[in-house]
Amino acid sequence: MTMVAFLSGAGISTDSGIPDYRGPNGVWRKDPAAEKLVAYDAYMSDPEVRRRAWRIRLDGPVLRAEPNAAHRAIAALDRTPGFAVRVLTQNVDGLHQAGGMPPHKVLELHGTARAVVCTACQARSSMGDALERVRAGDADPACTACGGILKSATVMFGQRLDPDVLHRAVGIAKAAEVFVAVGSSLRVQPAASLAGIAAEHGARLVVVNAEPTPYDALAAEVVREPIRTALPTLLDRLAPS
Ligand code: ZN
Repeated sequence: MTMVAFLSGAGISTDSGIPDYRGPNGVWRKDPAAEKLVAYDAYMSDPEVRRRAWRIRLDGPVLRAEPNAAHRAIAALDRTPGFAVRVLTQNVDGLHQAGGMPPHKVLELHGTARAVVCTACQARSSMGDALERVRAGDADPACTACGGILKSATVMFGQRLDPDVLHRAVGIAKAAEVFVAVGSSLRVQPAASLAGIAAEHGARLVVVNAEPTPYDALAAEVVREPIRTALPTLLDRLAPS
């Protein structure tokens, strides 16, 4: 059994029509007004920020996006006898699962935009239901259980990663024989350090990204081609069919 871990970032989903929001050059970082919408303190303290955030979610591409060839190639490797696959993703779009990865094999480091969570009672419900309420005229829908402020179940700027998710991700990085960082700038910590942890623990590190990353020097292989073609080719080499 070959244990292959993937760390995926925004670059794997751009072919699915989802721009890079949170990376160093992402949409949010370049626009202070947009960044406020995903800053936890501003979101919690300013109802106008929340109303804008809900309007943007309503128009956002995430719930309409379809997985692409790279997401499907990873899921196909998982179905290949002799391979154990785990996905650690910085993305909140749910496209690995939509592309066929079993949900329990995907760790979402920054949460998911497909669910909402109550900031008071932590109750979770579907983003689709919350957006229905926004569409029906509720500009800042509250938790139906307790009346608390709802937010998307993502890790906003100013929030820390779920320590349990991070702990499990580190364990997977340490256990991986092959660690493929795909579409990640490897500049957002602590997610990026997983590549270093994997290499330190003996994984063959492969970096698939359009731009250079701080971990390229540690990598056994660096691939700069477009992800939607590079990844299926790479995985075919790993598991010739
Ligand atoms: Zn609540």
